Amino acid sequence: MIVDIHAHYFPKAYNALLMRIGGKSLPESARALTARPPRDDDPSGIPTRLQQMDDAGVSMQVLSPAASPPYAEKEADAVAAARLINDSYAELAQAYPGRFAAVVSLPLPHIDASLREMERGLDQLGMLGVSLTCSCFDRSTAEAEFEPLYEEMNRRGALLNYHPIQNGICSPMINDYKFTVAVGASLEDAAIVLHLIARKVPARFPRITYVIPHLGGIIPMQLERLDNQAPRTHPDLPERPSVTARRFHYDIVGHGSHAALLCAWKAFGADHLVAGSDYPVLLAFETYRQNFHYVREAGLPPADVERILEHNAQILLGLPH
Ligand SMILES: [Zn+2]
Repeated sequence: MIVDIHAHYFPKAYNALLMRIGGKSLPESARALTARPPRDDDPSGIPTRLQQMDDAGVSMQVLSPAASPPYAEKEADAVAAARLINDSYAELAQAYPGRFAAVVSLPLPHIDASLREMERGLDQLGMLGVSLTCSCFDRSTAEAEFEPLYEEMNRRGALLNYHPIQNGICSPMINDYKFTVAVGASLEDAAIVLHLIARKVPARFPRITYVIPHLGGIIPMQLERLDNQAPRTHPDLPERPSVTARRFHYDIVGHGSHAALLCAWKAFGADHLVAGSDYPVLLAFETYRQNFHYVREAGLPPADVERILEHNAQILLGLPH
């Protein structure tokens, strides 16, 4: 069976709260490009979702709120939103044991409140890891102000799931050309990998399990170039950038691209690729089953396909496999 480490669920009450508090941490310039009526999920959609999971051979979805994290300038607003989304996921997990789990959403940019919510999510709500977007109010979440979170995740040996926030890496070269979602998200994924490398985060917090979405964006194509050219501007790295990049895990959300999958497989190895779907984003283009099945059609060794689809997520999340 497959554990889907990258799935989304947007409770109606949470969407309404975010709209009320203006809680999306997007720069004004990018909002118009990503604004869409938030999909409202509610329990009436669960039977359909469970059927899709059964058809795809998915035992469990690990949920997060994607590019709609509970961030807000006022701490009380962010805390209320974080508690609502985390409680909603915990209720789903309890109502459908073994079918749903979640990673904790944090009320950023408020660090102390985020540490408290991390503890509540991991210790009381039984969540399987922590969710961070690649940036928060246009600051990379690899920056120094977020380090108390990394210290705590490192102490716990926690899993950390990143997700783009859809700010087009704050670039008019992307946003002015309306590629904020189609390409900008992959650039956010690549940027967080680069920021983690540059700030030596994995060397300093080695007990965290880092999961990067969407095959790591352009990173699998850049490893050799990074090794060749990054040391000139980063002379004090503890190891070659490609070695650090291979310390991370990458989910297989690839929009059906065998070329992208094969590149990531070659770059990172089968042990570093994890089953994930981005549910429900790709359902506009293909079935939920196909989100995973494309891995079986890519010509990879069968043993690697099995590891990628049926074992790696379970190993990272500490589930039976
Ligand atoms: Zn996603």
